[in-house]
Amino acid sequence: MTLFNRKCTVDEIENDGDSFYGTTLDTLSEMADLVPYGWRELFADLIKQLRASDQPHFAHIGFIPFTVKEGYMVVKTTEYQPVLFGILRKFRKRIGHTCRECGLPGTQRVVGLNEMPLCPGCYGKRRLRTDLKKLLLDIESAVFKKKGVYVETDIPARAMLTIPDIAWTTLIDPGSKSSLRCITLESLHHEFPRLKSLKEMLDKDLCGYSSLDFSSSLVEEHE
Ligand SMILES: [Zn+2]
Repeated sequence: MTLFNRKCTVDEIENDGDSFYGTTLDTLSEMADLVPYGWRELFADLIKQLRASDQPHFAHIGFIPFTVKEGYMVVKTTEYQPVLFGILRKFRKRIGHTCRECGLPGTQRVVGLNEMPLCPGCYGKRRLRTDLKKLLLDIESAVFKKKGVYVETDIPARAMLTIPDIAWTTLIDPGSKSSLRCITLESLHHEFPRLKSLKEMLDKDLCGYSSLDFSSSLVEEHE
């Protein structure tokens, strides 16, 4: 079973109380589908721990429905309680080192305007997707259409690696013997459907809800 086929186990956890603590914890556990895929196992662990930590004198304490930001999610209680605070702080710390997409160990990465923990593979996929998106827009844009031929530096770096060698033409300067690879707009248009479907596969995969056998070495060139 791959990580992508994992099922969250929150639903299997028993409901064990009618206190404010118990009912709000139930509500929290029912929100499992809103948790980013990579953090669901940790979230299921959190729910288990909170159920196991229930005490009669916690009955009046409740859990506040969380909101998920790009790089983190915070679960809070209606009032400070040291034991619960410790559990929730540990959870926050663990998700900070867990890939938001797949659950493998991750580190904080800047993605657009946000920071989020991602493993090297998912970070590479995100960056490739960003480059593909830019290239697809460029190919369709009026600015790009003014030119007939493009050199390597015109193409976003990771997207360039997805274009097969056969699509490129190498020009050699007879004087300096230096070479330059270029590609025609026609060739880029020819590549367009494949690049678009590659981006769509990444879109689907990076939502974290589907499996993708993405074995190309291209996405491994992430660092
Ligand atoms: Zn990952």
